[in-house]
Amino acid sequence: MKREGVSALIFDLDRVLVKWQGSHDSEIPVNIIAGLAEARPDNLARTIKLDDSDWITSLAKYGVDPTDRETLEKIDDRLFTWVMSSSRAEIYPWVSGILPKLAKTKKLALLTNNGIKSARHHLGNLLDLFQVVKTWDNVPIDCKDIPLLKPAPDGVLAILQELKIKPEAALILEDSMSGVIAGKKAGVRSALVCWEDNQQESLIKSLGLEEWVFTILRDPNDLLEL
Ligand SMILES: [Mg+2]
Repeated sequence: MKREGVSALIFDLDRVLVKWQGSHDSEIPVNIIAGLAEARPDNLARTIKLDDSDWITSLAKYGVDPTDRETLEKIDDRLFTWVMSSSRAEIYPWVSGILPKLAKTKKLALLTNNGIKSARHHLGNLLDLFQVVKTWDNVPIDCKDIPLLKPAPDGVLAILQELKIKPEAALILEDSMSGVIAGKKAGVRSALVCWEDNQQESLIKSLGLEEWVFTILRDPNDLLEL
């Protein structure tokens, strides 16, 4: 499956490099956002489900302003503590062997709607292999609309610019639709990662969007053939 012209790989973090326990819709305890900002009490009484790839924009549903960075940082801290204490996330064992090999022949970028703290925690020194790292909390402070978050294409476009490559020379590695959409908007192909059962694959098929996905990867060793 040799792919001509792929000189840069843009990785998502969660469920691509980091394994999550449980379903794609993680149930997050209400105390994660309790007492923060204008979060509405009626919404705090229920269990919150946040998709990992869209958790910041989802907060608007619960009365939290997704452009309020101070509040987002508190939520991110609580999420991080919760995830770490419950061992819900850990790096896939293959990453430490395969990522350094990829870095010898490709430019690597990381684009995640998760925070830099999680990226550092999970990847450790492997984070240095990425030439560009875009997380929700390293977006410039004057970006009121948090435009770098997927499914907006801004993060992908910023990476292309910083790596000085054309869209057709990059490939996005994603487990969720938000990243595939971001890639589509930026003119970059996406590979849907299905290391485990991935509900997004059936979602894409049911929506008739198969042509948005360049290929489906089920074995991490296939990364070395890109
Ligand atoms: Mg993901």
